[in-house]
Amino acid sequence: MKTVNTIKAVREQVRKWKSQGLRVAFVPTMGNLHAGHMTLLAKANEIADKVVASIFVNPLQFGPFEDYDQYPRTPDADVKKLTANGCELLFLPSVEEMYPLGKELATTIDVPGISDILCGKDRPGHFVGMATVVSKLLNAVQPDVAIFGQKDYQQLMIIRRMVLDLCMPVEIVGAPTNRESGGLAMSSRNQYLSKEELKIAPLLYATLTAVGDKLKLGERDFSALEKAARKTLTDTGFKPSYFEIRKALDLQKPNPDTKSFVVITAAHLGKARLIDNLVVTV
Ligand code: AMP
Repeated sequence: MKTVNTIKAVREQVRKWKSQGLRVAFVPTMGNLHAGHMTLLAKANEIADKVVASIFVNPLQFGPFEDYDQYPRTPDADVKKLTANGCELLFLPSVEEMYPLGKELATTIDVPGISDILCGKDRPGHFVGMATVVSKLLNAVQPDVAIFGQKDYQQLMIIRRMVLDLCMPVEIVGAPTNRESGGLAMSSRNQYLSKEELKIAPLLYATLTAVGDKLKLGERDFSALEKAARKTLTDTGFKPSYFEIRKALDLQKPNPDTKSFVVITAAHLGKARLIDNLVVTV
């Protein structure tokens, strides 16, 4: 695998591949790679001829009191995993390469209506930072297709909207969430959990599936279901930020005729802020 640090170099290699008629897939990440990221690489290898990944911990999407400095950075281990999983090109830019005029002056992208709810309410500015960096990465790499995890459901919906609204010439593909055997969604932030918290953490997904089962059985008192789920989580030691039943399509409030739901949550457990979701179609 080749590693490049500049937009010019990544673009040149991708242009070369495309001129040979090869289809290029792109997997953007913040590094500290785990089996969840490998699901994305597997999908990329399945649907394209060449796979490009990026590692960039984007300062623009972290709030002032969030974990930008502490976020785990493990470039050597990441390179080994990418190489072993069929990635041929790694784009590893510096903050200066991505924000040449400084992040305060960066042009930003705000996808309205969907960026200031749920996680966006909890983390003001997060999705503007995320959409901005994803658009920059897509412009830098210029892939045919880019792959994102359904684990970050709201992120995936925002990216789909951005690509549609801005006529970006790229296909967006979602990949299923990879979980630990107990159901906990894999995440770089799981390493903030203590041994005791790791035993409690699978309850987040168990609560989502319990609510999903009730929706399938025909229960439609959404606020009662949400309230009971928040209580279950609080009683076990979580501090839920939100636990909501929304429309899978646009994350707006559902009605009794909705057929496709997403049950979506963010909850603090110790030092970690965990997110997870479950799509339920009835
Ligand atoms: P991150 O490095 O956490 O920014 O994640 C990079 C990409 O990997 C995003 O598209 C995430 O949605 C995806 N991802 C993270 N965790 C998982 C997981 N457990 N299963 C599938 N995809 C994931």
